[in-house]
Amino acid sequence: MVVIGAGAVGLAVALQLRRAGVTRVLVVDRNASPGMGSTCRANGGIRAQFTTPINIAFSKFTIRELRALHEETAGQVGFRAIGYLFMTGTDEGAAALRRAWELQRSLGIEVEWLDPAGVADIAPFVSSEGLRCGTFCGGDGIIDPGGVVGAFADAARRLGVSFRYDTEVIDITHTGRHPVVHTARETIDTDVVVNAAGPFARTVAAMGGVDVRVTPRRRNLACTEPVTGMPDPIPMCVDNDTGVLIRREAGGFLVGYSDPHDPESVETGFDPDFLDVIAGRIGNRFPFLEEVPINARKCWAGLYPETPDHHAIIDAPSDAPWFIQCAGFGGHGIMHSLAAGQAVAELISQGRCTTFDLRPLRLSRFDEPGGAVETAVL
Ligand SMILES: Cc1cc2nc3c(=O)[nH]c(=O)nc-3n(C[C@H](O)[C@H](O)[C@H](O)COP(=O)(O)OP(=O)(O)OC[C@H]3O[C@@H](n4cnc5c(N)ncnc54)[C@H](O)[C@@H]3O)c2cc1C
Repeated sequence: MVVIGAGAVGLAVALQLRRAGVTRVLVVDRNASPGMGSTCRANGGIRAQFTTPINIAFSKFTIRELRALHEETAGQVGFRAIGYLFMTGTDEGAAALRRAWELQRSLGIEVEWLDPAGVADIAPFVSSEGLRCGTFCGGDGIIDPGGVVGAFADAARRLGVSFRYDTEVIDITHTGRHPVVHTARETIDTDVVVNAAGPFARTVAAMGGVDVRVTPRRRNLACTEPVTGMPDPIPMCVDNDTGVLIRREAGGFLVGYSDPHDPESVETGFDPDFLDVIAGRIGNRFPFLEEVPINARKCWAGLYPETPDHHAIIDAPSDAPWFIQCAGFGGHGIMHSLAAGQAVAELISQGRCTTFDLRPLRLSRFDEPGGAVETAVL
């Protein structure tokens, strides 16, 4: 098996393949070490508060497995159960939050419904002006993306996975009997190729004649200077009405926002205009941050591998069953990584996935009407 990409997703695929007993797994990446793509740029949030059954199921599975790995590795994963708090001040927002909360509860996620007083108990620093309601899940939290990469890579290596770094895949062909992965250094004959190339998945898929609707989009994070006299840690606090989220980082506050109007781009430098965009939004629920200076050395950006419906793609085309696509995880690739790995491992070792219903993640869905769209996009 050749897995293209040593980000959180490719590493998790390799690990779960070996755990499922699949032998001779090789991970290939053009970077010098694992996790240097989108994975190392992530905020580190892991949450089960999604709005579709498949995304909730992927989070539930991965969070459970990440917590287990955290214990096994004496804390390498860096998991902290700080919780996620979602809030809204609109009728429409309250109705959407209620629907999501009911779905999450029906799928066994322990999420609390909060009135404004309940929100104030958890986050007294939030502006309660016009606040209608919130939800809180104490099992959500954060991990250290670098720690996750290290834990996945170490565990995979111990189980016998091979790695080739500084190795760019430049073409993928099929001899009629088996696929061949062409790199700048060599050609590799294999049985199955897994495309886990993150934001570059569309380029890699095209090498094998497959179209996957994955688009890279730049996302920014900005950290303030230290702020004293405030609780630390706080939950990941999400203002659903503006899309702004905050959490504590290095004594300050880390601020995130995914602008739905951001164009397709592979630019990974921090966008200074981001500060203007959040300046116009942060005061809605977090006015105490309006005057706090940003620490320019703690601002960064990376790429979301986006799909039109904010669900990943895990599928192989019927005319190329040897080429499994596992990409398009948007802003939730780490928190869905081990579930993705499990799904791919089952597809390869059993011919079908039994742990998850993968139909919402099929390749062909974008040409069909009526598919579900994830709306908890952060
Ligand atoms: C600012 C920001 C905040 C985020 N916050 C979170 C968060 O809180 N929680 C969360 O779960 N997710 C978050 N994400 C999203 C998360 O980082 C991604 O979904 C995840 O890292 C995707 O993992 P991946 O393995 O698919 O991609 P990547 O980590 O990008 O890995 C893909 C790998 O493929 C390799 N590759 C590509 N093309 C080739 C080729 N031709 N040959 C060889 N190798 C190739 C690359 O070098 C790369 O290492 C965030 C992302 C950003 C940018």
